[in-house]
Amino acid sequence: MIRVAINGYGTIGKRVADAVAAQKDMKVVGVSKTRPNAEAFVAKQRGYPLYIADISKKPAFEKVGLKVAGSVEDMLKNCDVVVDATPGAVGATNKPLYEKLGIKAIWQGGEDHEIAGFSFNSDCNYKDAIGRQFVRVVSCNTTGLCRIINTIDKEYGVAHVHAIMVRRGSDPGEIKKGPIDAVVLDPVTVPSHHGPDVLSVLPHISITTMAMIVPTTMMHMHAIQITTKKPVSRDRVIELITKHPRMGIVKKSAGIKSTAELKEFAMDLGRQRADLYENCIFEDSIYAKDNELCFFQAIHQEADVVVENIDAIRAMAGTEKDAAKSVAITNAALGFVPIQNSH
Ligand code: NAD
Repeated sequence: MIRVAINGYGTIGKRVADAVAAQKDMKVVGVSKTRPNAEAFVAKQRGYPLYIADISKKPAFEKVGLKVAGSVEDMLKNCDVVVDATPGAVGATNKPLYEKLGIKAIWQGGEDHEIAGFSFNSDCNYKDAIGRQFVRVVSCNTTGLCRIINTIDKEYGVAHVHAIMVRRGSDPGEIKKGPIDAVVLDPVTVPSHHGPDVLSVLPHISITTMAMIVPTTMMHMHAIQITTKKPVSRDRVIELITKHPRMGIVKKSAGIKSTAELKEFAMDLGRQRADLYENCIFEDSIYAKDNELCFFQAIHQEADVVVENIDAIRAMAGTEKDAAKSVAITNAALGFVPIQNSH
């Protein structure tokens, strides 16, 4: 059993905890919180030992009936791997503690590549993560980009990618973030950070990205244009996506043309938290002519990186050397089959 601690039990951390608990070869030794809020009660309900970043706040937790197992350092002493899912830039401040304790650590996309010196995507570089002490799982957008770019690159060779990201303004629970009524260029300058971030995983790819933020919470939407080195076939692209364990086709027959309908579909299918772990690529948007491939893909920002964290844990622990096998184990434990199999 790989003993896993989750430092930062928020949007990503609570999902990673449940995904770890679902695996047969892993165990949640604890989760950490800063405040006694609703998520802390969910941790209690799930039976995850609750640790706190600032031990002086123990009385505030215990006053509302939340048993505190100890400090974050206590939690870390009991683990083989910590998944740091604290807010962006906070994770970096935890590195000295992980180094002191000599434990393996995974950071999220809100941290810079340099924090771990290695950026991970199961599809692209699982083997290079085997046995590593430090790994960074790239952001939700970068994860979605890496999966499809790597797949097309292996089949046709990628000459250049141009991707436009229409990003959700906030996660559903974040009531203080916006925008409420604006399309915000984020950033105004080109390229956005997503292109360079893809290079942290796939350094040989030529890519330009642009990004904006809109008033929605559900998902990101990517408009992607790939120039391939060899002529591209629409049918073959659909086949490649369909065969991929972490990409899904939103079939024309479903009549879905928005993130809202997609999330509704995920809810109706009974996915936990309506999570969509896969790239959701709209069948009808796939356009292939000569060396040009275009399509729209929706990315559920809260979910796609969760399964990647599980594979990263397994690779770092060195217990499974084969990427495809780890992906299959992770998916099966979550009962996850990509979306095209449900319509
Ligand atoms: P979040 O704010 O939802 O959760 C962070 C949690 O960490 C909160 O529960 C907070 O109380 C806790 N925390 C804060 N400081 C702490 C500390 N010092 N010690 C322990 N816990 C602490 O954040 P999130 O959205 O889950 O993001 C976490 C990381 O994942 C970031 O790097 C982010 O960029 C990345 N990420 C987020 C998303 C997303 O859409 N939410 C997607 C992909 C990657």
